[in-house]
Amino acid sequence: MLNLVLFGPPGAGKGTQSQKLIDKYGLIHLSTGDLLRGEISQGTELGLEAKKLMDEGLLVPDAVVIGMISNKLDANKDAKGFIFDGFPRTVAQAEALDTLLESKSSAISGMVALEVDDDELERRLLLRGKDSGRPDDADPAIIRKRIKEYNDKTKPVAGYYKNQNKFTSINGIGSIEEIFSAIVAVIEKY
Ligand code: ADP
Repeated sequence: MLNLVLFGPPGAGKGTQSQKLIDKYGLIHLSTGDLLRGEISQGTELGLEAKKLMDEGLLVPDAVVIGMISNKLDANKDAKGFIFDGFPRTVAQAEALDTLLESKSSAISGMVALEVDDDELERRLLLRGKDSGRPDDADPAIIRKRIKEYNDKTKPVAGYYKNQNKFTSINGIGSIEEIFSAIVAVIEKY
């Protein structure tokens, strides 16, 4: 199985690259952001709770996203592999993911991190906000809060995979095709 964690700050291009990787490798895309937005649009209780935090640029509780990922793994037992996008976002989530995969006799193949500087991120997110309709993309103060949450809580997740010798970082600035080729080159070595 190919189980890839695509890592990087908000606006790094994880969603764009995930789509291309799915097409090439036939993987299942698990984006906790998309799953949470799905809950919000269905008006579930989970969605209502998550929305308050998401609109503030804060992370939702670990237990919530771990539960959603667990359900998706169970629902896709015959998958060739998964792309985890926007998850794990805390070390506790990374540990939980390892436990979930171990219980299915599987494991993470590796993490690929997209490196993009903060100024470029803010520029991309504000641009995306013009047509994404996402409240968390519309306000520079919220964008900065998301980048701060990333620096405080999510960056340490890279260290978690470095310790397991599963970490590779690539330049997230360049054309979509250039970045895609760099990711594919990493995957081909797994
Ligand atoms: P981006 O890649 O632009 O950060 P996402 O769609 O991945 O956007 O996430 C949007 C919001 O959803 C986050 O700011 C956070 O509130 C919430 N979220 C998504 N994934 C997680 C997660 N794994 N843990 C906690 N909160 C999450």
